[in-house]
Amino acid sequence: MSQQPLQPLVQPWDAHNQKLVSNVHPADWKNPAPAPRYNLVVIGGGTAGLVSAVGAAGLGAKVALIEKHLMGGDCLNVGCVPSKAIIRAARAVASVKEAGEFGVNVPDGVSVDFGRVMERMRRLRADISPHDSAKRFSELGVDVFIGAGKFTGPDTIEVGGQTLRFSKAVIATGARAAAPAIPGLSEVPYLTNETLFSLTELPNRIGIIGAGPIGCEMAQSFARFGSEVYLVEATHGILPREDPDAANIVREQMARDGVNLLCCGKDLKLAKAPGGVRLQVESHGKGYDVLVDQLLVAVGRAPNVEGLGLETVGVAFDKKGVKVDDRLQTTNPRIYACGDICSPYQFTHAADFMARIVIQNALFKGRAKVSSLIIPWATYTSPEIAHVGLYEKEAQAKGIEVDTYTLGMDKVDRAILDGETEGFVRVHVRKGTDQIIGATVVAGHAGDMISELTLAIKGGLGLKTIGATIHPYPTQAEAGRKVGDLYNRTRLTPFVRKLMGAWLAWTR
Ligand SMILES: Cc1cc2nc3c(=O)[nH]c(=O)nc-3n(C[C@H](O)[C@H](O)[C@H](O)COP(=O)(O)OP(=O)(O)OC[C@H]3O[C@@H](n4cnc5c(N)ncnc54)[C@H](O)[C@@H]3O)c2cc1C
Repeated sequence: MSQQPLQPLVQPWDAHNQKLVSNVHPADWKNPAPAPRYNLVVIGGGTAGLVSAVGAAGLGAKVALIEKHLMGGDCLNVGCVPSKAIIRAARAVASVKEAGEFGVNVPDGVSVDFGRVMERMRRLRADISPHDSAKRFSELGVDVFIGAGKFTGPDTIEVGGQTLRFSKAVIATGARAAAPAIPGLSEVPYLTNETLFSLTELPNRIGIIGAGPIGCEMAQSFARFGSEVYLVEATHGILPREDPDAANIVREQMARDGVNLLCCGKDLKLAKAPGGVRLQVESHGKGYDVLVDQLLVAVGRAPNVEGLGLETVGVAFDKKGVKVDDRLQTTNPRIYACGDICSPYQFTHAADFMARIVIQNALFKGRAKVSSLIIPWATYTSPEIAHVGLYEKEAQAKGIEVDTYTLGMDKVDRAILDGETEGFVRVHVRKGTDQIIGATVVAGHAGDMISELTLAIKGGLGLKTIGATIHPYPTQAEAGRKVGDLYNRTRLTPFVRKLMGAWLAWTR
């Protein structure tokens, strides 16, 4: 099987990438002879497809999984896994740079071997890849077909010249980086998440378009490695989805790391220049004209709907992706969809849990609803920023009145000892109650801390219960318990306080 279509996803062609590809797109893979009929045929072998396939097979269904590029999809190959490996290396750089604050002398300062940073990432990605491999899924009872899947009839999908018959099918073909309408973009060389992780040399100057999660994570990392970073964002500040004060804490840290944020960017123009790209933009009334060696476009995602034969089977779609109802059924009742192809929540964990819904609904006539999922998310900058449930503005828009409790990380002993006092835990409860309806955490490990609040929402545990839960001292997670204390203190009404005072005076 040719490796040609896999370029440039897996450059350089070193031992690590060869190991990766031998797992997720083996050159010698022989597609099996199709079964007469499958309970479920899944198109797309990213998280959504893998979880659908393996979950269904584990329950005894006859399942086929079709993947045209790399099993593991974006997350393993060009998304979460490589980006987090890079972020870890950038955090190491920051730790060394800040070592003096901890009384640790680093005599010669920091020098980054970017080639080794990327090599480490490729090694770790390859080490993780057996988990998503064609071999493993085959051993778990899934018929794995490498090739592009396409609907050809009401119950047929074609792949590599073979026809698979299905009772139910799942579209899990994900999304890809979209090319935004920026003057000059089509004439200049640029990176997306599909090519960024193939870099082997640190750019002296990098322009990044879009200050969403991917743009911010990479801007901070490349600045920490020593690149001159220009982060261009059309709106004010960064991470437009998050509370402005939360995003601002991250923005300030990114500025300290050296990121040049060009927000409220207007009249962005790109042009070819010797050795790179000329980037012109106006930010807050000031004109910028910089030459960058590399340009990363990190705005917008386009759903992978092309070439699937969706029209043949009456599956409706638009520029946001495949249309599904709350039960993840498409406009063809035999066909379901899950993951980035049909969701505004483009996260691996969301794809995973949507796949679980599809298994229940497609195979067992279940009634599980995607709207019942409580989906947290995190951006892995330093500090991290994580959120679950409603933002205050969303609660207001829905007419829900809230009480909000916010505790600064500077009130948490472990955060003080770690030197990570920038941030807060903010919890919104339904007014007059302790029912949690949303929370934002900005902290060194906010992505870990948000799970407690997610569990509370999911399990119907109130803020009072979190306040009454013993957390080990000293941990940063104690911040959650302390927010619970803030709530519990409000229960101490003047009347109760008076009553307690009287009791104590009487029993003295
Ligand atoms: C840089 C980056 C960092 C990210 N970091 C995080 C993170 O930290 N945490 C997080 O939760 N999420 C993160 N994400 C998002 C996460 O990667 C996606 O939400 C997740 O991969 C979606 O999974 P999926 O299965 O829906 O789609 P995908 O992973 O895109 O998989 C779809 C698969 O379908 C295949 N396919 C498409 N068409 C066909 C066809 N016709 N036939 C056969 N196969 C086909 C594709 O080749 C692909 O392998 C990140 C994304 C990026 C880009």
